[in-house]
Amino acid sequence: MTLFTHDSGAGNVDEVLPFTIPARDARGRVVRLGATMHTILAAHDYPPALRRLLAEALLLTTMMGTLLKDEGCQLTLQVQAQNGAVDLLVCDYRDGELRGYVRHDALRLADLEPHPTLIDLFGDGYLAITFDLPATAKRYQGIVALEGASLARVCEAYFAQSEQVPTLIRIGLDVEGGRCFAGGLLIQHLPDGEEGRERLHARLDHPHWEHVAALAGSMTAAELVDPALPLDDIIWRLFHEEDEIRLMPPTGLTRGCRCSADYYRSVLSRFSAEDLDEMRDEDGRISVDCAFCSRLFPVPL
Ligand SMILES: [Zn+2]
Repeated sequence: MTLFTHDSGAGNVDEVLPFTIPARDARGRVVRLGATMHTILAAHDYPPALRRLLAEALLLTTMMGTLLKDEGCQLTLQVQAQNGAVDLLVCDYRDGELRGYVRHDALRLADLEPHPTLIDLFGDGYLAITFDLPATAKRYQGIVALEGASLARVCEAYFAQSEQVPTLIRIGLDVEGGRCFAGGLLIQHLPDGEEGRERLHARLDHPHWEHVAALAGSMTAAELVDPALPLDDIIWRLFHEEDEIRLMPPTGLTRGCRCSADYYRSVLSRFSAEDLDEMRDEDGRISVDCAFCSRLFPVPL
């Protein structure tokens, strides 16, 4: 048993810890979000069901976003729906920065049970996962139906259907009341060793995957949000009988938005002077509403 440890310091909060189990062709991540999650949720005044929904989406976005290795790559998780209380959920991840929001009908949401199902929340909809890779100017998008008990199950289905990569995801949330702590585990089987290779037949019954999935599947939501259990201890607890586990350097996480005045100036520069005049308020100012930040930004023009 070789465990390449790192000096993670205290806490392991707002951090993703990637790992691989080479003999099993498996790779994974564990993540914890605390203050970063609080900052994102605090920008919005969401009821408990939406706090849980957005918290789960942020964990998923982080774990999938860190599968992209190159700087500047972005992962966007987006649910578009109709006939439910929520019609849009957007989260994205780029270089350790995370943001997200939910657009909803407050009255319809108030009519739902305290723990609504995905169908209650969204009605009919789909989940789109988009990978933006600026180095090659490429964008990949996979779409999957919103079928399953949770967004985590929908993301597992995305990997199975769109990428033919067997994937197991576990989520733990402690975001009730004033609390704001969440943990997640993602593990995948890459039998060809290389990422991105075409896999026409997902082997959900591969013995290595069955073994790894059985171990990872024993992780409980309570353990994922146990502050006394650091991220590397979670990996150790699950896989200590494996010959070798490789821990990669952790990635720190913060809340980040691109809604600077410079960004909006560049967006607005594409509009004609007449269009801009129509956007001005009585005092001649133009303000742009950032849904991620839930606030208006005056743009000096
Ligand atoms: Zn913003």
